[in-house]
Amino acid sequence: MKYYSTRDKERKNPFSLKDAAFAGLAPDGGLFIPEHIPEVDMDKVEELASKSYADMAVYLAQTVFDDIPAEDMDALVRDAYDFPIELNSIAEGLYNLELFHGPTYAFKDFGARFMGRMLGYLGDGEPITILAATSGDTGSAVAHGFYGVDNVRVVILYPDGKVSPLQEAQMTTLGGNIQPLKVDGNFDDCQRLVKTMFKDEELRSKIRITSANSINLLRWLPQSFYYFYAYCQWKKRTGRTDPVVVVPSGNYGNLAAGMFAKRMGLPVAGFVAASNANDVVPEYLMTGEYRPRASVRTVANAMDVGDPSNFERMLWLCNDSYDMMKSEIRGYSCSDSQILDAIKDIYESYGYISDPHSAVGYLATRHYSSDGFWLSTAHAAKFCEVIERAISRMPELPSGLSLAMKREKQFTRISSKDKDLVDFLL
Ligand SMILES: *Cc1c(COP(=O)(O)O)cnc(C)c1O
Repeated sequence: MKYYSTRDKERKNPFSLKDAAFAGLAPDGGLFIPEHIPEVDMDKVEELASKSYADMAVYLAQTVFDDIPAEDMDALVRDAYDFPIELNSIAEGLYNLELFHGPTYAFKDFGARFMGRMLGYLGDGEPITILAATSGDTGSAVAHGFYGVDNVRVVILYPDGKVSPLQEAQMTTLGGNIQPLKVDGNFDDCQRLVKTMFKDEELRSKIRITSANSINLLRWLPQSFYYFYAYCQWKKRTGRTDPVVVVPSGNYGNLAAGMFAKRMGLPVAGFVAASNANDVVPEYLMTGEYRPRASVRTVANAMDVGDPSNFERMLWLCNDSYDMMKSEIRGYSCSDSQILDAIKDIYESYGYISDPHSAVGYLATRHYSSDGFWLSTAHAAKFCEVIERAISRMPELPSGLSLAMKREKQFTRISSKDKDLVDFLL
């Protein structure tokens, strides 16, 4: 399989998996995509999903990454996915896929753990720096996904004052090969800084860098696997096919991975792009006009993105057709007060504590009375301040989180100027 940039329309510059993975962002500023979308055998997927998530994911990974020896892929995937995943039902007809039972209690573990193992496998022993901008959960997932991997230094940029204390604790208490940077700016500044480093030829001639944001192919593609698993569970429980999948979205890697799954043969009816007040994609779906802008801060801060990188992949998946995207995805956006009310409503009606991001999924599901499931992207305990505001009680902290809170935080402060980051990296 070869990989191309979303901007290389004539397909003049093919990349190998290794080169695409280490480059992160394509040299022309686009995002990597595979040359074709492999088709999967749904009977086989259903059979394997009834055994375990790892069994099913091995088959899908072998199909997508067909140039890696099958037995190597088997070992990598089983090592990455040693934690549970569950299609939960909070009430009759209301299903949510709990993706937060991994080591950092958010769905990003699915991409980050796979990528960490794959980069270790593809690497050639030369040191490499992984640069990641985070609005909260990416940082902790990447830090944990790469912690202790030989020859890898992880530099994480996060906006000062805009991530939760728990998220910060998860990123800043590992030490070792993990170097957190507290940036004087917002998430868009962090993302811009990372993008600028990749375009800096002089820097890149001195150190080898790659990205671990959802723009990286190795993080993005394995996120398509759990859509298959959820579908199989949902079909088993309801006897039906063609669910609508509601995806709480920020940088749109997750939703773009679902669209990829659909094109591999997953029988879903469509998607809902569920967003907070940062509604650039829902607005596009309504008007046909894409207007990137600065992000605004919300209680679902991992979704505070004003110019989502993966929009380019969504367009590619729709052959640049607005009509095609519109027929596949419906948009939804909501305010902070709606999110807080939803957390309260879910708690009072069903005795279930939802994190703010997943609550956006619940709201969108209710709004469209959609028949399917929503993705629950984080454990409520990661956002306990918001939960307390909504229901006047704290969710219980899982042991991994209370441990991180007790350790000393270590980070370096930098401005949002390019030069500060270059100096730090060198
Ligand atoms: C990252 C994140 C999202 C948004 O996912 P994207 O792939 O960026 O759209 C939603 N919820 C949580 C908890 C997240 O960490």
